[in-house]
Amino acid sequence: MSKLTGKAAFVTGGSRGIGAAIAKKLAADGASVAITYVTGKSSAEAVVSAIESNGGKAIAIMADSADPIQVDKAVSEAAVLLGPIDILVNNAGVFPTGLIGDTNDADFDRAFAINVRSGFVASRAALKTMPDGGRIIFIGSSLALRVQGPGLTVYSATKAAVAVMSQALARELGPRGITVNTVHPGSTNTDMNPADGPWAASQIGAMSNPAGFASAGEVADVVGYLSSFEARSVTGAAWTIDNGATA
Ligand code: NDP
Repeated sequence: MSKLTGKAAFVTGGSRGIGAAIAKKLAADGASVAITYVTGKSSAEAVVSAIESNGGKAIAIMADSADPIQVDKAVSEAAVLLGPIDILVNNAGVFPTGLIGDTNDADFDRAFAINVRSGFVASRAALKTMPDGGRIIFIGSSLALRVQGPGLTVYSATKAAVAVMSQALARELGPRGITVNTVHPGSTNTDMNPADGPWAASQIGAMSNPAGFASAGEVADVVGYLSSFEARSVTGAAWTIDNGATA
C-alpha cells in the first residue's frame, strides 16, 4: 500500500508547473487528487489523464483563485467527489513585477487575492471536512526571505504573508494534529520562471550551490514528504529549495 492510499488531496493551480508536479507526486503516493486551474483546461485535463494512466484518480475543477466564491465552491465539490480533504496544497500563484511607481492598487489587490487570500479561503473550506492529522502546505517563495532585486515589492510581500499565515495556522490547528507548513521554492524551471529566461543567469549567480534551476518535481518531492505520516512532527516550518540563494 502506498503511503497516501485512501487520502484525498486538493491542489490549487495544478494544471502546470509546480502544482502539476505536486498533483502527480501525491497521486503516485496513492492519494486521489483534485486540481484547479483558471484558463489551462487542456493542461489540467492532461494532468488528470497522466494520473489516470498510472492507475490513479484525479479530477480538474475550474476555479479562479482571485474569486473566493469559486475557491470555496471548488473545495466543497472536491470533498463531495473524493471525500474529506486530507491534504491541501495552496500552490496557485502569480508573479507580478514592477517598480512601485508603475504598480497600481488593482495590481496589488489582485496579487494578494490570488497569492494570499485564496490560500486562506481554501484552508477554511478544507477544514470543514479535514480529519485530525490532516496537512496544509503553502507554496511560498525564497523571495519572501531575501529580495534579490528591485521590482519585487508586491510579490515578495504576498509570499511573506503566506509564510506567516502558515505559522499562525500551525498554532491554531496543532491540537488536532493538522500540520501546516510553507515550502519556499527558489528558481524552479516552469512557465513562470523558465530556466532559459532573461533573468536566469542572475538567479543562478545568487546561489551558493550553482546547481542551476530546480525542477518542479524536486519541489513536489518535499511536498510529498510533508504530506506523509512521517512528517507528523513538522509543523510551522518553512522549507527552502533554492540552492542556497537565501543562505
Ligand atoms: P506557473 O505559472 O508555471 O503555473 C501556475 C499555475 O497556477 C497554473 O496551474 C495556473 O493555472 C495556476 N493559476 C494561476 N493563476 C490562477 C488563478 N487566478 N486561479 C487558479 N489557478 C491559477 O507557476 P509555477 O508552477 O512556477 O508556480 C507555482 C507556485 O510556486 C506559485 O505560487 C509561485 O509563486 C511559486 N513559486 C515559483 C517559483 C518559480 O521559480 N517557478 C519560485 C518560487 C515560488 P492555468 O494553467 O489555468 O493558468
